Amino acid sequence: MTIDQYANKFLCDLVAYEPGKPIDETAREIGLDPSQIVKLASNENPLGPSPLAKIAMRDALEESHIYPDGGGYRLRSAIAESFDLEISNVVLGNGSNEIIEFLCHTFLNRDTELIAAKHAFVVYKLMATLFGAKYVEVPDPGFLHDLDAMAEAITDKTRLVFIANPNNPTGTMVNQAEIDRFMTRVPEHVIVVFDEAYYEFPDNPPDTLKYVKQGRNVCVLRTFSKIHGLAALRVGYGLASKSIIDLLQKARQPFNVNAIAQAGALAAMADAEHIAKTRAINREGMAYYETSLSARGLEFIPSFANFLLIKTGEGDQVFRGMLQQGVIVRAMSSYKLPEWVRISIGTDAQNRRCIEVLDSVLSAIQATK
Ligand SMILES: *Cc1c(COP(=O)(O)O)cnc(C)c1O
Repeated sequence: MTIDQYANKFLCDLVAYEPGKPIDETAREIGLDPSQIVKLASNENPLGPSPLAKIAMRDALEESHIYPDGGGYRLRSAIAESFDLEISNVVLGNGSNEIIEFLCHTFLNRDTELIAAKHAFVVYKLMATLFGAKYVEVPDPGFLHDLDAMAEAITDKTRLVFIANPNNPTGTMVNQAEIDRFMTRVPEHVIVVFDEAYYEFPDNPPDTLKYVKQGRNVCVLRTFSKIHGLAALRVGYGLASKSIIDLLQKARQPFNVNAIAQAGALAAMADAEHIAKTRAINREGMAYYETSLSARGLEFIPSFANFLLIKTGEGDQVFRGMLQQGVIVRAMSSYKLPEWVRISIGTDAQNRRCIEVLDSVLSAIQATK
């Protein structure tokens, strides 16, 4: 007899999400100073947080004894205004991950289905499992979402379809024509979730907000964790019709986004300089990796985001070898990609160190064969 028998059965079946390995933990394990560790494992912003956000957060500390604005009025208004939407079209989440949970809470139960691509962000599967729904996985040849196949997978029980665009961990992006064709095939009982955590990185990302404005059953997710460099704060948002947002608001705890985070996010939105610098350093870093990897004959998936999937063979071994030398990347076996690692784009110095360490690990592995 164990306590498990009294727990929610779906929850017991869950395999917990494995985040990027923390810097402190790595430093302790290999006996280095945390400042010597290079973490390129969680698609974080190598320039750090928006400087304007830091100032706003310091000011907000003074009011830490007051509960946050549970309605998130100022931040939601600013977000709505920047996309030409109404405040009633915006919901805030403790990271956009939390909005994935609101969506599942709102629309899933054991009689429903959620559709996602084979190499989609793993959180979708975790959430579908948690709510007892059937998780329907659609093949993605060439690591690109096959939206025609995803449309064909829709049944009467389908409630949510997740399209991460650009997708994590593949970095691939479906284009406007593919999305538009897909949207003509989606029936009304299905909510299409466009998870756009990396929306600000590609030059011409497809427009999905037009479907929000048309009142279609879509929800667009964005985050402050990536381009704005505020991953530690946990702020993201969802954009949808008022009727969808009204439902999601009911799934939300009253003070899910703290006041420091709201202040930081609001200031970061206005920090055009930090956004431009982040895009620029990412573009340069991406070009450096593409050149370096091609020169070594290493296969990679061309990416529209701030990370890159690289075929190294024996991804777990490469991950562990690099870790021993103080460079944290992400092994991909939990994504059914045991021969690949995912590397986030860092500063120039971090990228060079990463390639140097990758070289050394790959030749050590080669030597043992
Ligand atoms: C990073 C990421 C998120 C956002 O996470 P937060 O909870 O906002 O930090 C959402 N979806 C995908 C696909 C991501 O890679």
